[in-house]
Amino acid sequence: MTYSQTACGTKIANASLAAIRELGRKVVVWARSEKSRMAKIFKAVIVGAGPAGLTAAYKLSRQKLPVVVLESDPENVGGISRTVNYKGFRFDIGGHRFFSKSREVEDLWTDVCGDDMLERPRSSRIYYRGRFFTYPLKPFEALWNLGVIESVLCVLSFLTARLRPKPNPKTFEDWVVNQFGERLFRIFFKTYTEKVWGMNCQEISADWAAQRIKGLSLGSAIKHAFLSRTPKDRQQLVKTLIDTFRYPRLGPGMMWEACAKKVRGFGGEVLLGRRVVGCRFNAASDLWIVTTEDADGNVEEYIGEHLISSMPMRELVAQIEPSLSEQANRAAQSLRYRDFLTVGLIVRDQGRFTDNWIYIHDPSVQVGRVQNYKSWSPGMVPDPAYSSYGLEYFCIEGDKLWNSPDLELLQLAKKELQRLNLADAADVIDGCVIRQRKAYPVYDDAYQKHVDTIRIALEQKFSSLHLVGRNGMHKYNNQDHAMMTAILTAKNIIAGERRYDVWAVNQDADYHESGTAGDQIADESSDAQAETAVLSTT
Ligand SMILES: Cc1cc2nc3c(=O)[nH]c(=O)nc-3n(C[C@H](O)[C@H](O)[C@H](O)COP(=O)(O)OP(=O)(O)OC[C@H]3O[C@@H](n4cnc5c(N)ncnc54)[C@H](O)[C@@H]3O)c2cc1C
Repeated sequence: MTYSQTACGTKIANASLAAIRELGRKVVVWARSEKSRMAKIFKAVIVGAGPAGLTAAYKLSRQKLPVVVLESDPENVGGISRTVNYKGFRFDIGGHRFFSKSREVEDLWTDVCGDDMLERPRSSRIYYRGRFFTYPLKPFEALWNLGVIESVLCVLSFLTARLRPKPNPKTFEDWVVNQFGERLFRIFFKTYTEKVWGMNCQEISADWAAQRIKGLSLGSAIKHAFLSRTPKDRQQLVKTLIDTFRYPRLGPGMMWEACAKKVRGFGGEVLLGRRVVGCRFNAASDLWIVTTEDADGNVEEYIGEHLISSMPMRELVAQIEPSLSEQANRAAQSLRYRDFLTVGLIVRDQGRFTDNWIYIHDPSVQVGRVQNYKSWSPGMVPDPAYSSYGLEYFCIEGDKLWNSPDLELLQLAKKELQRLNLADAADVIDGCVIRQRKAYPVYDDAYQKHVDTIRIALEQKFSSLHLVGRNGMHKYNNQDHAMMTAILTAKNIIAGERRYDVWAVNQDADYHESGTAGDQIADESSDAQAETAVLSTT
């Protein structure tokens, strides 16, 4: 028999120790369930106060249904769409353009933010080998920048790809080469995409390209760029979301703070600093018991008829009870994420650039994109004599970049900003580092199989569990799609049956509201999305 020593020094047989521990666990579970029994039963317990979680809460609480939103962040709502305030300068986690195909989503933004929702002009460029290319591309400028020889080679390589496309493209590289040709792929896709994903373009699934670049061919890009539009078309174009976008005056966080306030006003609860660590379904009562922990280790439980989860799928599966099959657990563990950090710099404004953002395709620096928040909204800086820039670096939690001390990252960002000739290092007066875990769900060649396995396993076991959002569904959803999954979920809950398939969102589904205004927005925004998706990643 083996023995252990207890805290008070008594030796005790390991077998007895295990029995005592089990007894202790039962007492805790019993005490918790006693406490739970007396607690309020919510219509829905919602995990995460990002756009998806708050939208679900907004829609349900507006109908006077009791909801609680549990958010792990102790200070901010908004998730990846929050705004960080550093000494009065506001930093967006990536620049968040607000546009949607759905009138319902656009209306919700207007309802929540009212006059604080600005219509902003858009300006963005690409930096490649010491030159700036206006983006969306202007053909003559692009030809000039690339030079005659390179331009001719690009056209020849495009024609070759069209005449001899790779059959059945499975990877991002093959998909893009088929669409644009090898040379354009190398100039405008490869470096940036590999910075974003940290993977070779041959390892990235063609699904990602198909989802983000769908509907755009080089032919249509050239047609758009060269063929002059009628004055009426042109007038309309000025109004399109290609040239302008909506943005809350104080950044996206303003939207989600206002939304949380509305939810509270409707009687819902939004609780910060509560990390959800357990989601248990009790078949006897048909209820969910959701356990949270705060920074001091205090534990609470919340009971709901429905569980809406926007936490990463991988985390949900790890904590759900009764647990899923070994196969589904393995699938969840195989899901991967890409992380992201922004070095926010406060800079004396010398008027070097006014773009909203610049894509850095150049391989000589590590930075992937530079944001200029004052151009997103003048309200993002407290003093117009200064600008705040965000240098965005793509990384993986725990890698060298992620673990670098803030001071080193600030030095790196300063050096790269100067190298790109966007500011003098001497004009940088202060800065901060913002790390964002799980910014991107990775689309590798096996992700879809894993997501399907998990989704089927969850659906078979739990009819009152609803996955929403970006990491919640391991889907490359923008805010509007994350919100749409939440809106449809709320409708399903209110209807008492699954009328809408949330997994169809983002795939040209007919979930859009009908009506002229909605249709117009749909057309314009898909145009805008297609154009920006050529080279960008949000
Ligand atoms: C660089 C970048 C740029 C982007 N640009 C745009 C853009 O221009 N336009 C656009 O529309 N979208 C953009 N997006 C996408 C947008 O940020 C997301 O679509 C949106 O935030 C997803 O909302 P969500 O609620 O699904 O998830 P999240 O925003 O990730 O929110 C999830 C919330 O759940 C919380 N949570 C997680 N686990 C737990 C737990 N165990 N317990 C309690 N809480 C938990 C998190 O703290 C978080 O607050 C961009 C994203 C990135 C990374």
